[in-house]
Amino acid sequence: MAERSTCVVVGGGPAGMVLGLLLARAGVDVTVLEKHSDFLRDFRGDTVHPSTMQLLDELGLGERFARLPQSQLRVVAFPTGDGRRIVVADLSRLKVRYPYVAMVPQWDLLNLLAEAAAEEPSFTLRMHTEVTELIRKSGRVLGVRYRTGDGATGEIRADLTVACDGRWSIARKQADLRPREFPVPIDAWWFRLPRHPQDTVTALMPQAAKGRFAVVIPRPEHLQIAYIGRKGADPELRAAGIEAFRRNIVELMPWVADRVGELRSMDDVKHLDVRLNRLHRWHVDGLLCIGDAAHAMSPVGGVGINLAIQDAVAAATLLAEPLQAGAVTPARLGRVRARRLLPTILVQSLQRFMHRTVVGPIVEGRRMGPPRPVLKLVNRLPQMSYLPAYLIGVGFRPEHAPPFARRPGSHPATTAPGRTG
Ligand SMILES: Cc1cc2nc3c(=O)[nH]c(=O)nc-3n(C[C@H](O)[C@H](O)[C@H](O)COP(=O)(O)OP(=O)(O)OC[C@H]3O[C@@H](n4cnc5c(N)ncnc54)[C@H](O)[C@@H]3O)c2cc1C
Repeated sequence: MAERSTCVVVGGGPAGMVLGLLLARAGVDVTVLEKHSDFLRDFRGDTVHPSTMQLLDELGLGERFARLPQSQLRVVAFPTGDGRRIVVADLSRLKVRYPYVAMVPQWDLLNLLAEAAAEEPSFTLRMHTEVTELIRKSGRVLGVRYRTGDGATGEIRADLTVACDGRWSIARKQADLRPREFPVPIDAWWFRLPRHPQDTVTALMPQAAKGRFAVVIPRPEHLQIAYIGRKGADPELRAAGIEAFRRNIVELMPWVADRVGELRSMDDVKHLDVRLNRLHRWHVDGLLCIGDAAHAMSPVGGVGINLAIQDAVAAATLLAEPLQAGAVTPARLGRVRARRLLPTILVQSLQRFMHRTVVGPIVEGRRMGPPRPVLKLVNRLPQMSYLPAYLIGVGFRPEHAPPFARRPGSHPATTAPGRTG
């Protein structure tokens, strides 16, 4: 017999877990299905932005979040080639409670959200449960079919299904919603190297060489490194092998020569097929897409997690009441897109601009950093670094916790533990 929930959420990433928590706090019966057995899934970025930390405070989770192991990034800078660096985004200029990006392993953040949600009686999280199909009747989505880790299958009927299953969303595909793809010149390869006490990485500072660059994210125990190269170069990189890849990395960052041997094989290097796309419609009757399922984000600016979370807050704010009343109409679902479309378009437009003017020319070997006039301008007017910092840290139309989801909890101000970057 089919099970029932008022709302079924496909995917327990940032969007799905925030949506599940908020709806549960409104008393809505909500079930989140996550295909992995834990949150230690593929690397998906570790950034928690000032606006997300503000939201966690509003949810009464600020103190718990501050206890997570984390480092803080206050500055994004580019080397100028003469041993100096130019700060292009200075988050410490922001007039916000947390003027930095916290680097927190994403599984820690997701576990925190899952623990908070588990305190709500109307919340259910099912790990190792993969949605395989939508249940549809006369065009309306009535719920999902799933398969668990041990091969059992079942179905859950729901008034609303929310696709939070990321860039390759099966729910979106089954609903015949197709995103418009925008061309992207880059792919990314992620790997880790040990962090040494003598390392002086103090900022998010891309290191460029002809045709490629790398971004180092310092974490308390290790360095998370993104190697950015030409789109479609993965087969070539893998064919060239780990020795060539290590040489590549040392050329970019000679200071990691002492530990690059920790990369044993190309299996330690994860390829990300960078996508930038957006749905025209985010819903059909009975189903809504949010987060990467509605708009896959490029890693440029590291803003995808923040945007996915903001979508979830908007969706919970607009849909909690209709869900309680059993009155979720397509028009209501359309309001979520109406609220989140402009911020999404603006952020994606900026990412596309950065692809064209900064990262594209670097991976094509035409330049080693941002255009010279931009560097000159930032050099002459350092206060210019406020704008990119605001766009990265706060963004367009930050969402706030709706009253039903707020909980008291003293916020730990800016004294969160961890290394300052
Ligand atoms: C390698 C990489 C690095 C990135 N770095 C950053 C960064 O530093 N900062 C940043 O802000 N953004 C970054 N991004 C983008 C960011 O990860 C996404 O924008 C963000 O995670 C979107 O959140 P989401 O919840 O919509 O989707 P996801 O985080 O993709 O979550 C989707 C969830 O759904 C689950 N799922 C998928 N299919 C099913 C199914 N059929 N049934 C059940 N569960 C399913 C998945 O296991 C996953 O847990 C990065 C992305 C990648 C791939």
